[in-house]
Amino acid sequence: MQEATGKVTAVAPDDLLEATLADLQAEARARRARAHGNRVTYSPKVFIPLTMLCRDRCGYCTFAKPPARVRSPYLSPDEVLTVARAGAAAGCHEALFTLGEAPEARYPAARVWLDQQGYGSTVEYLAAMCALVRDETGLLPHANAGALDDTDLARLRPVVASQGMMLETLDADLACHRGSPDKTPQRRLSTLHGAGALAIPFTTGVLVGIGESRAERVRALEAIADAQRLHGHVQEVIVQNFLPKPGTAMHDHPPCPPEELWWTIAVARLVLPPEVHVQAPPNLSDDLRPLLDSGLDDWGGVSPVTVDHVNPERAWPAVHLLREATEAAGGTLAARLTVYPEYALDPERWLDPAMRFSVLDRLDADGLGREDPWCSGGVVAPPTLVDAIPVPGAGSVVAAGRRAGGAVAEVLDGVNLGQEVGEDEIVTLFSARGPEVRAVAEVADQLRRDEVGDVVTWVANRNINYTNVCTFKCRFCAFSKGPLSLNLRGAPYLLELGDITARVAEAEAAGATEVCLQGGIHPSFDGDYYLEVIRAVREASERIHIHGFTALEVTEGARRLGEPLVDYLQRLKEAGLATLPGTAAEILDDDVRAVLCPDKINTEQWLEAHRAAHSIGLRSNVTIMFGSVERPRSWARHLTRTRHLQRETGGFTEFVPLPFVHMAAPIYLQHRARRGPTFRETLLMHAVGRIAYRGWIPNIQASWVKMGGAGAAQALQAGVNDLGGTLMDENISRAAGASHGQLMDEEGFRSLVEPLGRRLEQRTTLYGRVPAPC
Ligand code: SF4
Repeated sequence: MQEATGKVTAVAPDDLLEATLADLQAEARARRARAHGNRVTYSPKVFIPLTMLCRDRCGYCTFAKPPARVRSPYLSPDEVLTVARAGAAAGCHEALFTLGEAPEARYPAARVWLDQQGYGSTVEYLAAMCALVRDETGLLPHANAGALDDTDLARLRPVVASQGMMLETLDADLACHRGSPDKTPQRRLSTLHGAGALAIPFTTGVLVGIGESRAERVRALEAIADAQRLHGHVQEVIVQNFLPKPGTAMHDHPPCPPEELWWTIAVARLVLPPEVHVQAPPNLSDDLRPLLDSGLDDWGGVSPVTVDHVNPERAWPAVHLLREATEAAGGTLAARLTVYPEYALDPERWLDPAMRFSVLDRLDADGLGREDPWCSGGVVAPPTLVDAIPVPGAGSVVAAGRRAGGAVAEVLDGVNLGQEVGEDEIVTLFSARGPEVRAVAEVADQLRRDEVGDVVTWVANRNINYTNVCTFKCRFCAFSKGPLSLNLRGAPYLLELGDITARVAEAEAAGATEVCLQGGIHPSFDGDYYLEVIRAVREASERIHIHGFTALEVTEGARRLGEPLVDYLQRLKEAGLATLPGTAAEILDDDVRAVLCPDKINTEQWLEAHRAAHSIGLRSNVTIMFGSVERPRSWARHLTRTRHLQRETGGFTEFVPLPFVHMAAPIYLQHRARRGPTFRETLLMHAVGRIAYRGWIPNIQASWVKMGGAGAAQALQAGVNDLGGTLMDENISRAAGASHGQLMDEEGFRSLVEPLGRRLEQRTTLYGRVPAPC
């Protein structure tokens, strides 16, 4: 998006009133870029007009109707749910309740209806319907109930994610508000501040062109800015242009000139604190570009299901048109919740406890709305974010790269010049949306091609999880059982050593070159147990590669024996251990580990275990389990910390992103985690990993168990060159709820790889070639 001219530096009202529109717009764009980058949001919503009766008589309004012109004073609960369910099925996040103000104070029919249904007021009924919609559909209610006192604002807080009321204007003498007791400036301001005192994320705004002056508009915006500085609750300000409507008192009033709307958007951006989002309804303007050029960063609610009941004659633009307009201006479009990220990510302050999980369950890692129903380990196919990226020379790589704008494009430019990405640049890459995702994937794909060519590798292996009994209490772990827990997810077990031997023999007979050994930390284990496991493997096979024992297992094993870790690792190596898996890393950021796995080894201990292994020639890999409670900053720390160790030791063979599978994870079932990463985040983890580890870790692996075949195929176009193992058993992911099977065979891998024009090759654990069978 365009940069500033810097000609408007002050926001004194006189300066604003005297500046040219072009200068205001340029400065507004610059402020938007500094505060919000090039991201423009919208809220996919359904519109629920709970009642069209209203005690006010605003001269511009066609929403309000008398009782004789409506079938019933209020929508029934069934009617509310029918609309909400249609919205949920269409992928909406928000249920926008719009209604007239206190109709029971004017119309006996409304009073009688409420009495018959057992509600004391419209707001009481609204609260009940918000709870119904939240509980039955998962949509997040936003209540637009007009001017409310503190009691009613507080009544709604436990059942909505946010509330709203247009301030409209502070001009008390406008003809359009005569006969509208709820439109006095004092009552509106009192509601605005009441919501702030109650920590309610709040939407407000101004109407443009209803007879107010520019100076009055600036005064209204300044009053909103003051409320924000006092309470911090003004998440967005809507700048809405007046359009005359037939049948209203203002039907012959001229419409708000477009330039007046643009001027007000720009001035709103300059007057309001930078964090406040500025919105203009896209269905009330014929040309979207000047709205973007005036500094907005949000398109408001857009419904795929319902009309705009306040402006029913103006259809919502389709989302793809919003996307095209946004991207043409160098921006990226992102779906948000009704509550903006700044508030959604600080739930203790801004959300009632009854709303927190409903919000969390729809969040992505940036605090925006999940973009699709895909979940790691689930059965829903991923959206297509990259598809058959053409090889360089065909021209489209450059063209697609050019479509990425803003900070992501700047980082990619640096990568293309050979610069190494640091923590901040990695966070920026994870923010990629829309065409930027494809651009990041293309750069990663090129780096993959440069580093390891077009071959895609796999390894024939079997997972052996010798016990699911564990003394640790990792809150994400659906696999482990306490020694006494016989619960619905399965019984505790401990394989006999003979079972391990038998499974290895079976695996080798089936062509496996590797066994992957890991399990819970059984209370009866000491370090000798792991040596016995290696001997049990060797009893079945002298040559099968033993890939086993997490950093936690070897650290615990050494600790329980009272032996230095490196000495213990040396003994494991001499017994036959060949490489270590990178699991137990989860997120290498101790603030996150304190939430996810507080009693497990910390970041430094994980790194130290791998440092020690590398020091005696045992190689290992890096994993990351992402998408539960952490943010992209932690992902970036994980990547840079492991890269740092790789510089020191060179011992990591590959990077394996493991998207969090939420279905049976205790922390999710306790409503304290997200439902795993989105597919965009998952794809980016592979691509950004390729970029971050350039020159250091040559292999990036996709987990087909967690991504499914279709997801892994896209990851192959985003920096991935390895599909991991056939995994003849995969108990851990299945315990967490993953539905992708226990075994992938060579043909399965081939069906993913060959359509991409790549060649499949079986490898050893250490990326050597597997000799063809005689
Ligand atoms: S993740 Fe590992 S250490 Fe943690 S509870 Fe599960 S089995 Fe135990």
